[in-house]
Amino acid sequence: MSKAYPDPSPPYPELEHEPQAQPAPYAEPPQSYNQPPVTLIAPTPTYNLLTNVSREPAYCVCPFCKETITTSVNFVNGTFTILMALLFGVLFLLCCIPFCFDVFKDAHHHCPRCNALVAIDKRM
Ligand SMILES: [Zn+2]
Repeated sequence: MSKAYPDPSPPYPELEHEPQAQPAPYAEPPQSYNQPPVTLIAPTPTYNLLTNVSREPAYCVCPFCKETITTSVNFVNGTFTILMALLFGVLFLLCCIPFCFDVFKDAHHHCPRCNALVAIDKRM
């Protein structure tokens, strides 16, 4: 009976004899641009949103442009709107009703001159 296969030789030569790929020495990342490092400083807010506003346009001084203004009011869906939509949906299967009426929405007061948001009257 002859041996069909020769003795298995070591499948891989000794690793000590292999030329080992040396990792490339650490190179400095190329300086892509000759720009000085930029230090980012978070701006500190120097204003607060106005409080004690109603859902009607308010006569006040804009904290941004320092002008005396009457705010323009936008009604935006808020947490109260969503909760009322869930309630209306469960009770009456009319979950779209709160999204159709401003009484369920938050009132956002904007400055008509600089268009900044100056106050929010939240429903909850
Ligand atoms: Zn303004």
